[in-house]
Amino acid sequence: MKCSEEKNFSHGNLVPYGNIEMSPSAGILNYGQGLLEGLKAYRKEDGCDVLLFRPDQNAQRMKNGAERLCMPSPSVEQFVEAVKQTVLANKHWVPPPGKGSLYIRPLLIGSGPILGMSPAPEYTFLIYASPVGNYHKGPLNLVVEDKLYRATPGGTGSVKAVTNYSPVFKAMTQAKANGFSDVLFLDALTGKNIEELSACNIFIVKGNVISTPATHGTILPGITRKSIMEIAFTFGYQVEEREIPVEDLLEADELFCTGTAMVVNPVACVTYHNKRVEYKTGAETVSHKLYVMLTGIQTGRIEDKMGWTVKVD
Ligand code: PMP
Repeated sequence: MKCSEEKNFSHGNLVPYGNIEMSPSAGILNYGQGLLEGLKAYRKEDGCDVLLFRPDQNAQRMKNGAERLCMPSPSVEQFVEAVKQTVLANKHWVPPPGKGSLYIRPLLIGSGPILGMSPAPEYTFLIYASPVGNYHKGPLNLVVEDKLYRATPGGTGSVKAVTNYSPVFKAMTQAKANGFSDVLFLDALTGKNIEELSACNIFIVKGNVISTPATHGTILPGITRKSIMEIAFTFGYQVEEREIPVEDLLEADELFCTGTAMVVNPVACVTYHNKRVEYKTGAETVSHKLYVMLTGIQTGRIEDKMGWTVKVD
C-alpha cells in the first residue's frame, strides 16, 4: 500500500513474495525512516480457525512510531484488515496447533527518493509472513551490559524504529560469543536501572509482587508485556511498573522476559560485574503459570475473556 506525504494509504494488493524495487535515494535506505512490527497467527486446537492476537495494538504502536518519525501511517482498521488479508492468503502456511505460528511482519518505510535530509515524499506499507516454530529457548542466561546502551531519553527506544536494532548487534554478538543467551540493557541516563533485552521486555518476581521497568520513553511498550501485566493482575498478583535498580534484580526470586517471539521465557541466571545470580525456573514458577494462560488464550485453548483474539475469516 502506498501513500505520498499527508495523503491516505490506498490501493493495497496481494503479490507473491519477492524483491521490491526502490530508488537508491529512498528515505529508508539513506536516513533509516522506517518502522517494523511483529505479530503471530495461531491455528486453533480445532485445526481450522486461525487467530490473531491483539493486532489493533500493533497498529496503534505503528501509528505512534510514525508520528515520532514524521511519517503518515495506515489507520488501525487498514492495518488490521491488511494483516487479515495477508494471513488469509497464507492460511495454508499457518502450522498445525502446537507446532508454531505464522509470523507476520508489517513494515512502514519512507520509499520515495530524497537526497536532502528530510522526510521522504512517498511511503510504503507492506506485510510479509513466514511460518515459525515455537521459539522457546529454554531458561536464559543473561549478562548485564554496562557500556553499550539500547536507547536514550528523547530518542526512539519506545517505538519500533528499524534503526533501533542494528546498534544492539554488537552487545548481543559479544554476549553470545561469551556463552550468554542475550544482553540485559541498563538505562543510559544513570546506568543503574534495568531496561530490557535486545528484543523483549523483562519482569522480576519477588514474593507476590511482579515488577517491570516503567517505559519512560526508552523501553518498547511490548504487547506481550501489557497482556502479561493484565493477566497477572487478574491472578491476584501485585503488578508494578517502576524503576528497577540492578540490586533489585539480583535479589528477585524469579525473572522472565516477554515478547511476541518468545512469548514468556524464564531467565535462569544473570551475570553482572562477574557476579552470577540464579533464579527459580520450572513448572512451579509464576512465569510458567502466566505462560500457560497467555498461550492458552492465543491458541484458543482457554476461553478469551479479555476479547484479545481476532478470528481470521
Ligand atoms: N522490546 C523490544 C526492543 C522488541 O523488539 C520487542 C519485540 N517487538 C519487545 C520488547 C516485545 O514486544 P512485543 O511483546 O510487542 O513483541
